[in-house]
Amino acid sequence: MTHHTPASISCAFDSGNIVVHSITAQATGGWRAELSIRKDRESDFFQWFHFRVAGQPGDMLELVITGLKDSAYPGGWPGYRACVSEDRDFWGRAETSYDEAAGALTIRHQLISSLAWFAYFAPYSMERHHDLVAEIASRPGVLHRELGQSLEGQPIDCLQMGHGPVQVWLYGRQHPGESMAEWWMEGALEKLTDPADPHARLLREACTLHIVPNMNPDGSCRGHLRTNVAGVNLNREWHAPTAERSPEVLCVLNAMDQSGVHWAMDVHGDEAIPAVFIAGFEGIPGWTDDQGVRYNRFRDLLASRTPDFQTRQGYPKAPAGKANLAMSTNQIANRFTASHGCVAMTLEMPFKDNNDLPDAEQGWSPERSKLLAHDCMAVLAQMVAEAG
Ligand code: ZN
Repeated sequence: MTHHTPASISCAFDSGNIVVHSITAQATGGWRAELSIRKDRESDFFQWFHFRVAGQPGDMLELVITGLKDSAYPGGWPGYRACVSEDRDFWGRAETSYDEAAGALTIRHQLISSLAWFAYFAPYSMERHHDLVAEIASRPGVLHRELGQSLEGQPIDCLQMGHGPVQVWLYGRQHPGESMAEWWMEGALEKLTDPADPHARLLREACTLHIVPNMNPDGSCRGHLRTNVAGVNLNREWHAPTAERSPEVLCVLNAMDQSGVHWAMDVHGDEAIPAVFIAGFEGIPGWTDDQGVRYNRFRDLLASRTPDFQTRQGYPKAPAGKANLAMSTNQIANRFTASHGCVAMTLEMPFKDNNDLPDAEQGWSPERSKLLAHDCMAVLAQMVAEAG
């Protein structure tokens, strides 16, 4: 069988990232492409990929992404399966293998139609971000604020709801390649603005909620893994953000200083660990046992509420006094200890799957990210109710 048109690969769209080195027809039919991932601008980080393949229905594709020994998280590749979609709505997983010695990830997929999209995780485009902000801002009781702008002039959107004294901040996607964070935000916003939802009603009564669904729009558009357009890792800027390097952080921190913070959740994805977990603020100079007790209570309630969350795997804890205050969770917990008894946490969802409850078809997914947000908000409501 002969192919009439060669396969073609493109990444010239929102959050696209791939370098095409060669595309060759295979003797057995189908196509083999040799690819690599572009670094974040002004940075050495790379891991996020997102591209489109056009071919013929039925074509067998062999897509080999090379050079991954130098990627940001080489431990992210073993056991990882690439995300694939034919309709850009449902994202499944493709047959994927990793050659650790060669640093090469091989994705094998047969085209059903003439097009398929491949990504490190189901993308969350800036167009979808604007759709989300427009929809949520139009709902009753929601105040939209533009807290500032990114280095490239994109808005840093904040959606505010509720009138209670407890100040809650939810923010995500400091690392733009961690698109599951914005899927989580979509889930949180849908629940929090549901007029009938009992947890949301309680939270809106007791709290003022400030939600920043995307802290790094420039990196998101550009298909970055970890930095803004200037190559700055925003989650290492919270001790001293500046308008020149990190206006995205500066404007959010200024708004937090105005409101104060009782509860903060910074939402991320983790490349290597096949589980959902939270990381806290052990080692901050202002640590109080009361903060620790409430952090642990939140964690344990969430673990008992959903099998998609666990407490065995996670990051090592910082020793006393050794917390990195450039990271937002440590900075916010420490900054608002004395004034608010703040509990802050970093939520990590996997790029791979939750191996305690694996999903062969989808792995970790947008749908599960959204449902996890629902459970997190239910637990937050319980914590707020317990505090009276
Ligand atoms: Zn992250």
